[in-house]
Parts: sequence; C-alpha cells; structure tokens
Amino acid sequence: MDKIKMTTPLVEMDGDEMTRILWQWIKDILICPYVDLKTEYYDLGLKKREETKDQITVDSAEAAKKYGVAVKCATITPNAARVEEYNLSEMWKSPNGTIRAILDGTVFRTPILVKGITPYIPTWTKPITIARHAYGDVYKNTEMVVKAGGKAELVYTDKDGKETRQLIHDFKGDGIIQGLHNRDESIEGFARSCFNYALDRKQDLWFASKDTISKLYDHRFKDIFQEIFDNEYKEKFEAAGITYFYTLIDDAVARVIRSNGGYIWACKNYDGDVMSDMVSTAYGSLAMMTSVLVSPSGNYEYEAAHGTVQRHYYKYLKGEETSTNSVATIFAWSGALRKRGELDNLPDLCKYADALEAATIQTIEDGVMTGDLYMLSTLENKRKVNSKEFLEEIGSRLAAQLQ
Ligand code: NAP
Ligand code: MG
Repeated sequence: MDKIKMTTPLVEMDGDEMTRILWQWIKDILICPYVDLKTEYYDLGLKKREETKDQITVDSAEAAKKYGVAVKCATITPNAARVEEYNLSEMWKSPNGTIRAILDGTVFRTPILVKGITPYIPTWTKPITIARHAYGDVYKNTEMVVKAGGKAELVYTDKDGKETRQLIHDFKGDGIIQGLHNRDESIEGFARSCFNYALDRKQDLWFASKDTISKLYDHRFKDIFQEIFDNEYKEKFEAAGITYFYTLIDDAVARVIRSNGGYIWACKNYDGDVMSDMVSTAYGSLAMMTSVLVSPSGNYEYEAAHGTVQRHYYKYLKGEETSTNSVATIFAWSGALRKRGELDNLPDLCKYADALEAATIQTIEDGVMTGDLYMLSTLENKRKVNSKEFLEEIGSRLAAQLQ
C-alpha cells in the first residue's frame, strides 16, 4: 500500500517524560507505516526550552499560526523541584499558557466514551464538551504579597494620562492582592468559537459565570455572549434546532450533574481548567479526553488534556513495566491529521484518522486496555497490557481496518 501523502506540514510540538516516549511509539507503530508524515518539528521538551530560553515555545506557536494546525505532546510546567531537577536558569512559564496567549481562542474538551467504562454519573449517557476560554483572568495575573498598614488601589491611566482610582483594601494586617484582566476582543472570539462549534456539532450551548458577584467583570462576558448571539447566531441556532442559554455558574453545576450530557458547556478560563478535570474524571479517565484549542482566526492546536505522567516515566527509566494510557495523545494526532486532511482536501488522510480512532476504541472494547481503564472497565474478558503492547494491539486492528 502506498503511504498517504500530505501537502502542508503539520506543526509537531514534542514534549516531556512518559508522554514523550508514547509520542515516538505512536509515530513509529501507528502513523509512519501509513502516512508519509510531513511535520515541522519543535522540541518543547524542558531541556530544549532551557537551551533556547523558551524561544522554541514562541516559535512553535508562531508556526501554528502560519500553518493552521498543530499537535502538541504534554510538557512539564516547571515548579521549584523542576528548576533543581533540570538545572533551569529560570522557572519557565507553562508552554500551554504561552501558546494559548499567542493563539488566543477556546479549548474544547470532549470525553471519549467506550463500552465497558460507565461514567461515575450514570445518567451521563452522552459526552459533555467543555469549552474553555484560553486567555486572561488568573492565568495572566499580577499578584503581590503586602504588609500591614498600607492600602491597595486599582489605578487605570487612560491614553491622556488621566487616572481613575478605586480602593481595593486598606490593610490592617499583612495580606495579598491580585490584578486580573481580559479583553473584549478575546471574549468576542471566545463567544464566536463557541457558537460556531455548537452549530458544527449541532449541540446546545450553555454558558455560565458569576455575574451576580462580579457585576462588571463577569457581567461583561455575559453581555458580550448575548449581544453576539442576538446579532449573529440567533437565527442560525433556530434553523439548526439548538439553543443557547446563560445561567449562574452555581446553577450550571447543579444542572450539569442532573443532565444526560450531549451539549457544550462554555466556561471562563479557570472554571474550564477545573471543570474539565472534573468532567473527564467522572467520565472515566483524564487520558480519555480529546482537547483542541481553536483560535478566533481558525488555527487549531490538538493536545492531550493530561500531563506528562511523571510517576510512570520514573518507572520506565528504571526499566520497570508501565501501563500508560495513550488514547488522548493518539486522538490529538488523529484530530490534527483529520483537520489537515479537511483543510488540504485529502480525503485519504481523513479516512486514516477515522480508522485510527476506530481501531483505538475497538481495542478497548475488545477488552485490551491499560491499567487505568482496567480498574474501571466492567467487561468480563478484560486484559491489562503494558504501554507498548497497547499500541501494538491498536496497530494490528488498524492494519485490518486499512486493508
Ligand atoms: P499527570 O501527568 O496528568 O498525572 C497524574 C496522574 O494521573 C498520574 O500519576 C497517573 O496516575 C494518572 N494519569 C495521567 N495521565 C495518565 C495516562 N495517560 N495513563 C495513565 N494514567 C495517567 O499530572 P501531574 O502528575 O500532576 O503532572 C506531571 C507533569 O505534567 C507536571 O510537570 C505538569 O506540569 C505537567 N502537566 C502538563 C500538562 C500539559 O502539557 N497539557 C497538563 C497537566 C500537567 P497513577 O500515577 O496513579 O497511575
Ligand atoms: Mg488543569
């Protein structure tokens, strides 16, 4: 069989630890035998980030803008322990944060449902997609630790130099303060990507924030969504038979728990960070979740929602057996390759991506799975395999599918 040709390079962002090992195996076992893989490679492994003073991360995001589609491996976000472990000259920022700040937009996360894994909430029979705003708020904050006896103020200096001040707090004792911001343009992009995604998926869209407490900040999000909906999307939603509805975040949480799933839940940046972990865990596993960043200008970055699985990596380094779930990373590749296929009009590449996903799900439904799923699966014939065996099992099913 001839390998499937690609016309535009896919931006490949390599990463760290166990996911870096899986990354290479996925390419060797599942992709390169079938696809004449054309990528522009960026090594976002922590070593390379240190060597380039993190310039590599910025370059990779710029490449994603240039080519339109990227696939990213999980990466270490350094903390104090990592600074020591990797002898870092600086505690480099989260690569995801840097990339999201450059691309802007919304991260859509959807659980991958398989037979045999029952959600912890049994009424969730359809997937809930979390749409996470990817810019600003606490992820772009400025914070300070302050001493007793001073006052903190919010000062805005306009373009003519005129200051507007508001007291934040008069500190009688020691304390902390934090400054947050967002931009109308980014919120508008967030709203439009959610409305477009809902139309694309033909699913209802929910949006929630804390506008009763945050009467200007969160309220702005609510107003922008409503304005854009009324002016640009209302009729399209009616024609598609779907709805948009806004509610308070507390109410949304209660409704989500009581729901059957099957809709998109738009969340502000922090809510989306936390809720996507809650939702994915409730559906089964962090490793059974797709994640894609969609920018307002239509660039796509596919990734896994979980981290670098450090504990497994240390076992791997000691030569011990690991059983790490590669599904989210495989779906990052299939999502990116399918999108490349759609944009470049390469139906064979889209078909390959479909087959790769189908073979992955088939493997688990045949009872062959990694340890995290083995603990959850209700299948009677289930069998736990190691990290590489799992990929080989998918590989043999993929080969059969592509015959
Ligand atoms: P993690 O890598 O997601 O792993 C946490 C635990 O969840 C693992 O120890 C493992 O549990 C389980 N797990 C996660 N993914 C799994 C998989 N694919 N297969 C099987 N089990 C899986 O989170 P972390 O340990 O908090 O973070 C490790 C590093 O990842 C950190 O340096 C962090 O900065 C980075 N991180 C990166 C991203 C990203 O790039 N998107 C996201 C989050 C964290 P058991 O050990 O019990 O088996
Ligand atoms: Mg998180």
